[in-house]
Amino acid sequence: MKWYKKLHWQIIIGLVLGLLWGLASAIIGFNDFTSEYVKPFGTIFITLLKLIAMPLVLASLVAGVTSLNDTAKLSRMGGKTILIYMITTVFAITIGLVAVNVLQPGKSIPEETKTELQATYQDNIGEKEQGAALVRERGPLEFFVDIVPSNFFEAASDNSNMLQIVFVAILLGIGIMKLGGKQGELLSNVFDSFNDVIILIVDMIMKTAPYGVFALMAALIVDLAGDDLSKALELLKALGWYCITVLLALTLHVFIVYMSLFKVSSGYKLGTFFKAIRPAMLLGFSTSSSSATLPVTMERVENNLGVDEEVASFVLPVGATINMDGTSLYQAVAAVFIAQALGMDLTIVQQLTIVLTATLASIGAAGVPGAGIVMLVVVLQAINVPVAGIALILGVDRILDMCRTMVNVTGDAAVALTVAASEGKLGEPNLDD
Ligand code: ASP
Repeated sequence: MKWYKKLHWQIIIGLVLGLLWGLASAIIGFNDFTSEYVKPFGTIFITLLKLIAMPLVLASLVAGVTSLNDTAKLSRMGGKTILIYMITTVFAITIGLVAVNVLQPGKSIPEETKTELQATYQDNIGEKEQGAALVRERGPLEFFVDIVPSNFFEAASDNSNMLQIVFVAILLGIGIMKLGGKQGELLSNVFDSFNDVIILIVDMIMKTAPYGVFALMAALIVDLAGDDLSKALELLKALGWYCITVLLALTLHVFIVYMSLFKVSSGYKLGTFFKAIRPAMLLGFSTSSSSATLPVTMERVENNLGVDEEVASFVLPVGATINMDGTSLYQAVAAVFIAQALGMDLTIVQQLTIVLTATLASIGAAGVPGAGIVMLVVVLQAINVPVAGIALILGVDRILDMCRTMVNVTGDAAVALTVAASEGKLGEPNLDD
């Protein structure tokens, strides 16, 4: 396939052309045309992402939970696996939060631009602030009360109820697993197929991403720059810092958390680990999809890392659905960056809410391109930051998606190695190819 036919290149091209269009439109003066005829395509793209969020969570979580199956051995291994997955995810989010609070990429935006950004998203901020005021009046455990919906359809009719759907999906998954037998299998197959269809639809939506990104970038520049280009350039500088923050935090996570994990459990050296799974990491980077990479991850983890098939075939598929350290880390950085860009200071409670919601959001995200940014909606809504702020970071999302997917895949392999070592199911590494 020619390089320019690949989606990630097309998105990068869309991004650059969108920027150039926005700049040209501000300089030459066709801002009205851009706002009326280009911007709507960006809006439609974001709306499509929102549309698919709810079914995506339902399908991928039910399929993930039912894939756990119910034998004594699996439940022991399952408990261990999920515990390690959760711990690494919380570490990832913490590293992301520390990085974004120390580097403060959103703070470099001048006050004036922040005020304008706020005005752009004003309606949304107003709404959320009302919501926040309501939340402040309520008791500390109300959060858990809110997670349990009284009506499934009511919950599913509003994207801000995503946590309720996560709850229902887990409940449903456990129910199907307990039902077992022919009926259980039937239902589990239905959700697997439903999941496949949703992934296909996400794929279709992502095909329009180059156009969506073009329109969003052009509209962003026009909305912000107006007649003052220097403001737009400040914003781009802040976006650059945001990308550096995400990449730095991802690197720290791999080298601190994963390295300690597999060194302590298996004694493997960093070089051995990376050499064994390198093709899977590269595929994760170029496809932006941990699900698409799964077959290669399994092959490398079994044949090259020396993990027994029994462990790999359970830990890796579950990991591809629920373990996304790169995604959760990115969501933490993105949420705080958007808040900083809009001049909103987040409290400790809001930052802790990020830890909880980003963990759940990364569990709920499917291993497909762009799933992480869809689930970012959940995190933003939980901390009352305007969801429309996603437009700020969408333009650079694809490249970060590639990097976070690589980390997601690496994390699954590191945990598979750790579980195998603890179960006495680890052979010798094979680095011949
Ligand atoms: N693309 C990521 C994955 O497949 C999910 C995400 O968008 O963060 O792992």
